Amino acid sequence: PPGLYIVATPIGNLGDLSPRAADILARADLIAVEDSRVTAKLLQRIGTKRPMAPYHDHNADKVRPALIARMAGEAIALVSDAGTPLISDPGYKLVRDARAAGHVITTIPGPCAAIAALTLAGLPTDRFFFLGFLPAKEKAKADAIAEISAIRATLILYESGPRLAATLAALAKGLGDREAGVAREISKAYEECVTGTLTELAARYADHPPKGEIVVIVGPPGEAAPTTEADAEALLRDALLHLPPT
Ligand code: SAM
Repeated sequence: PPGLYIVATPIGNLGDLSPRAADILARADLIAVEDSRVTAKLLQRIGTKRPMAPYHDHNADKVRPALIARMAGEAIALVSDAGTPLISDPGYKLVRDARAAGHVITTIPGPCAAIAALTLAGLPTDRFFFLGFLPAKEKAKADAIAEISAIRATLILYESGPRLAATLAALAKGLGDREAGVAREISKAYEECVTGTLTELAARYADHPPKGEIVVIVGPPGEAAPTTEADAEALLRDALLHLPPT
């Protein structure tokens, strides 16, 4: 049926394309893509060929109205090069405008590097905060980190190999030396997740920028140190109550 289909695609292992995603892609009248070469490979893998239209940061504003118009009578799928569209990828304005136009919108959930990394790191998952990519410039990066330093949640961010060590060091400086994980090449042959404190990880990668795609996971702040004398006294009294019997 006509409408907009948000289709998640693999982040490395083509086996992660869901049967439903493959089915929707094979039947779409048009697939809006970031890079037609990347999506052509995926379509080839599932033995199909569909019309594609580029939809990326540089042309989105221009081509969006035509895509919205076509959704009235055609099934338009949106994919990005890898993972879930809209997550550090284009698409939310397309969904917004499709919604405003009253089109049917459905999502075909699947791989997302942020969530996959969160499941690898062994850090708390009950509350998490996704930062996307931090700014590249040092000052802007430090400011962005300062802004989120008080958030009591695990942090998830995307980063590139060459910038990893500097970002880990900036995180250690702005957040304190929290527990963290670096997940790399998820679902590919050289998948790994290295854990340690931010300082340890910064040192590990300083002289050896890793290759491939990377997600950084940072644990939440530890229990806050007592700030007033009354707090300290309450903590002490509580500790005394729980001393083992002698
Ligand atoms: N929309 C995508 C998703 O759902 O994960 C993310 C797109 S964002 C432009 C690309 C970034 O995601 C990469 O720079 C990297 O930080 C992360 N990423 C993508 N695939 C990955 C993988 N297989 N392993 C680790 N990180 C990955």
